[in-house]
Amino acid sequence: MEELLRCKTVQEAFRFLEKDDKRTLQETLEMCQIPAPSYQEEKKAEYVFGKMQEAGLEDVHIDEVGNVLGVRKGNGNGPRIVLAGHTDTVFPMETDLTLKQDGNRYSCPGIGDDTRAVAELLSIARAMNAVGIRGEGDIVFCANVCEEGLGDLRGTKHVFGVDGSARHPFDGFISIDDKNTSGIIYQAVGSERYLVTFHGTGGHSYTGFGIPSPIHAMGRAIAKISDFQVPSAPKTTFTVGVVNGGSSVNVIAEESSMLVDMRSLDANALAELSAKFHKAVEEAVEEENARWGLGINDSDCITVTFEQKGKRPAGTQEKQCQIVQAANVANQVIGMETLYIGAASTDANIPISLGIPAITVGWGGKGGGEHTIHEWYEHTETWKGPQRDLLLLLALSGFEGIRKYQLPHITDFNVDFSKE
Ligand SMILES: [Zn+2]
Repeated sequence: MEELLRCKTVQEAFRFLEKDDKRTLQETLEMCQIPAPSYQEEKKAEYVFGKMQEAGLEDVHIDEVGNVLGVRKGNGNGPRIVLAGHTDTVFPMETDLTLKQDGNRYSCPGIGDDTRAVAELLSIARAMNAVGIRGEGDIVFCANVCEEGLGDLRGTKHVFGVDGSARHPFDGFISIDDKNTSGIIYQAVGSERYLVTFHGTGGHSYTGFGIPSPIHAMGRAIAKISDFQVPSAPKTTFTVGVVNGGSSVNVIAEESSMLVDMRSLDANALAELSAKFHKAVEEAVEEENARWGLGINDSDCITVTFEQKGKRPAGTQEKQCQIVQAANVANQVIGMETLYIGAASTDANIPISLGIPAITVGWGGKGGGEHTIHEWYEHTETWKGPQRDLLLLLALSGFEGIRKYQLPHITDFNVDFSKE
């Protein structure tokens, strides 16, 4: 990594990134003014599309789900690495996006998470173009949609073809999506989320007494779920986050519903928990019906429907693995101490679950208040994030014969990105 750092062109690129920092801030401020809730990122995508073209990337295009992709072609046959930041935010369309400034601190919903990261993608692409740097493999810049909440990683699912689309042959993935510049997330917390709805006929609480209640059935289900025993390692969790139902105090409800969230670092533990949850709900319904002497064929009996609201795959990598340690050493040579964050749920979940080396790292500068309307971003030593990312990309791709951290090139067929 030190050898890389000593390269004249890398030094030039580093100086470019420092000089380009003003423009990166300007673009961050412009972009955070564009509302972009998950599934409604079109305007921001258009902005990024124009900037990627200006930055000299090739094959710039917006794919079917709204991801903006552009390529910095490599010199030869090295690994193909994706550098990503997400365009969506957790804030609804009507959120007040008035930008406030106090010294070098700026406040605006979405300014850090993940607008700053998208601006850094553009700056890194510009730097590579300006000084003429190429890796051995292609470096794909990707401003992806739908990282947040019910967006359910739709953008990266598409990039990696797990939504049934064509699978791109990527060998490594870096997402910039954390407020700690030197942070490294290398394990993927998987999740399954369900909306469970209990249906009944309903009735008067006195004259209709004897009709089973969807709310009582749901209560039975929640009681069972509350008693679940789950492993602490790999950490596995569950919660009933939202409950709804009923119309009045003297009415047997017609309907009730709950939102359930289950998570684990381990795919098998998550699958086991999910199976247990489904079984518990089915049993609760049977018990509620049986309590009133009804079977599944009686017209007043309770029925239940499951609607899956989210599924993010789990996966683990060793802390000592190549991509994590490459990022760690890149942090060190830039003068930052690595903050191992370990596990989270990010765009890197998708490649990690597929066995493709992937991490999520932090953007430059400081930030806080993510996912609140008080989100802020502080513009201090901001170029260190992009500098680390450039170094990391070159190390993983291979550059001027330096290959200590080069990722294996697992796929060697050519893909035309412009023809998706
Ligand atoms: Zn984010």
